Amino acid sequence: MIYADIIIDISSDKLDRSFQYRIPERLEKEIKAGMVVAIPFGNSSQLRKGYVTGLSDKPKIAPEKIKEISKICSGEETTESRLIALAAWMRENYGSTMIQALRTVLPVQEKIRAKEKKYICLAISEDAGCQMLKELEQTRFKARTRLLRELLEKKRLDFTRASKELGATSAVVKKMKEQGIIRIEYDEIMRNPLNIDDITEEAPMLLTDEQEAAVRQIQKEWEKPSPRPVLIEGVTGSGKTQVYMKLIEKTISQGKEAIVLIPEIALTYQTVRRFYARFGDKVSVINSRQSQGERYDQLRRAKRGEIQIMIGPRSALFTPFANLGLIIIDEEHEPSYKSESSPRYHTRETAIQRAAFEHANVVMGSATPSVEAYSKAMKEEYGLVRLNVRYGSRPMPQVSIVDLREELKAGNRSVLSRELREKMKSRFEKKEQVMLFLNRRGYAGFVSCRSCGHVMKCPHCDVSLSEHNNERLLCHYCGYETGKPETCPVCGSPYIGGFKAGTQQIEKIVRETFPGIRTLRMDFDTTRTKGSYEKILAAFAAHEAEVLIGTQMIVKGHDFPDVTLMGVVAADLSLNAEDYRCAERTFQLLCQAAGRGGRGEKPGEAVIQTYHPDHYSIQAAAVQDYQAFYEEEMSYRMLLDYPPAAHMLAVLGSGPEDEKLTQAMHYLKLYIERIYKENDLHVIGPAYAAVGKVKDIYRQVIYLKHKDYKTLVHIKDQMEKYIEINSGFRKIYIQFDFS
Ligand code: ADP
Ligand code: ZN
Ligand code: ZN
Repeated sequence: MIYADIIIDISSDKLDRSFQYRIPERLEKEIKAGMVVAIPFGNSSQLRKGYVTGLSDKPKIAPEKIKEISKICSGEETTESRLIALAAWMRENYGSTMIQALRTVLPVQEKIRAKEKKYICLAISEDAGCQMLKELEQTRFKARTRLLRELLEKKRLDFTRASKELGATSAVVKKMKEQGIIRIEYDEIMRNPLNIDDITEEAPMLLTDEQEAAVRQIQKEWEKPSPRPVLIEGVTGSGKTQVYMKLIEKTISQGKEAIVLIPEIALTYQTVRRFYARFGDKVSVINSRQSQGERYDQLRRAKRGEIQIMIGPRSALFTPFANLGLIIIDEEHEPSYKSESSPRYHTRETAIQRAAFEHANVVMGSATPSVEAYSKAMKEEYGLVRLNVRYGSRPMPQVSIVDLREELKAGNRSVLSRELREKMKSRFEKKEQVMLFLNRRGYAGFVSCRSCGHVMKCPHCDVSLSEHNNERLLCHYCGYETGKPETCPVCGSPYIGGFKAGTQQIEKIVRETFPGIRTLRMDFDTTRTKGSYEKILAAFAAHEAEVLIGTQMIVKGHDFPDVTLMGVVAADLSLNAEDYRCAERTFQLLCQAAGRGGRGEKPGEAVIQTYHPDHYSIQAAAVQDYQAFYEEEMSYRMLLDYPPAAHMLAVLGSGPEDEKLTQAMHYLKLYIERIYKENDLHVIGPAYAAVGKVKDIYRQVIYLKHKDYKTLVHIKDQMEKYIEINSGFRKIYIQFDFS
């Protein structure tokens, strides 16, 4: 590479302003993204500093006009330069533009800068101040004298006013600051986003033997010359948070900082509160409910070293700590750890990469680890720590599986099975509460038989077909298409169709079945306004309803001591989603759902309704047997070459003209087949994406499967170049998505 892109100002609205410089031969091998270099700039004779953001072979302007990099400013690595290096890694590994990657990792500054009020305060005692004033009055330092006199009177002065009215220039202020007479304070605009006044600090809890052993095992890993990331597989309620806190404590006692990643939906007041109670104002939090300015302030506090622990969703991974020691990823399996916009990075891998750049450690935890993470632990790429005991030996909830096919046979067409109805009734009599969970996720348009449970699947991909326009069934991996059958191809039953029940319908049925019983509903519709989520939870906690009906949202968050029954209305909703991860997702959701009940003194119970009572993900979830699930799931992935058995790259194309898109995707496929001729690459599609058209923009996908990640990255690189120069792609937006 002979040219480097360099940005001089890394404030976010200038990120796309990069300049090209020639790399002198002597530096060619050394220059890398993220480095700080000295460059000539404009007509000034002085060198300026800039960050290298990328390398290339092609000049963007006439080569003779391109200036040369003067030198590498070694030893001037900053937090930003490390984040820029991380952005370059993300661009390379996930596919995106460098600007997109930079915008992901660098804090987004508000257009109007957060008002930053500066104050001057007295840093010495009043007596010492009076003494000094007497001395100063004898000197010629008039401005200093005025400033000190005013300070002794008012204690705290507005910086701008002080410089205007008292002539306290920045030189004066600087001098007095160096002498330790004054101190600069900033306005409380950057106060903690959580009102911590109502949180009393709590002493650390005594760890159980098992938790203690987990901490020791992790520390042992950290003592190794190159520590591996550690995965904690801990059943719900085993006290993973206690272990995290102990590790954080050890990290910050060494003067380092920690990032705690928690999925947005689990990032509730209750969770964050626990960290505040333990670590006080060392903690800050960012979340999507904050304004951009608020978030920016929190990141700035981190950069300045005012806090040591940052809690937040995946974007908190890029907190600009200068001395990062630990990254924790709680609920590691959650899909929200995967970014849905370019670069479509995975938080786990990116965290591991950041940690490697900055010599930090990574610890992730889950009761139901992702198949990807667990398989890495099995290969000993990650350390594995187990927590098998629930704190206080609370029993695991009793789970029963109801076969919905039997309900139909017995003439019950309601979505509530006889068993679930009976159990609900008995709870109401005991004044206990019930949650009904509808694990509807994304787009579940599958067609199944209500008599025998048969689901229409793609013969090539073994994923559910989804129904389109009420007549055709489509596979979203390979594009396979077939007509919708009138009767079940297996048992001949006419009861074949889509499963349409939503939360609203279930609410209606519950009210009809149990007159007088009050219900609350929590789904996308009822939680759209600010604060509504918390309101519903609070109302349920205050027993304003006996039943809470909801989607994924109800599985996380609050503990309700009086909820003793959790009903999963139709496990098939997630089980028949049209992607290869649906069994994993079902297992995770069911385990979580079952773990919800019985958090208090009373034991919990769960009822799972399904047309597939024998499916391994349901069987394993009922007894919370992760190992059994993992083994079955891995053999399925191996058989069909799905990740982690192989790697998969989705090439997503979108554009306003269906025909142009179809053509472009077709050419892209031909191009792939032309540049890569080995038969170890599977090219599937193009096919319309699960949601084939959004707001008049058509979407298609090509899937590539290969055992080796690097090969896919290489093919992606070539596709990027092909797309850039090919006019057929001008109105088409291509995104890459690795899994
Ligand atoms: P997990 O994150 O593994 O689901 P938590 O950390 O939330 O588990 O712990 C579950 C419950 O048990 C919490 O209410 C927690 O306060 C309690 N707990 C766990 N470990 C301890 C301990 N060592 N001492 C006291 N309480 C504990
Ligand atoms: Zn059937
Ligand atoms: Zn298919």
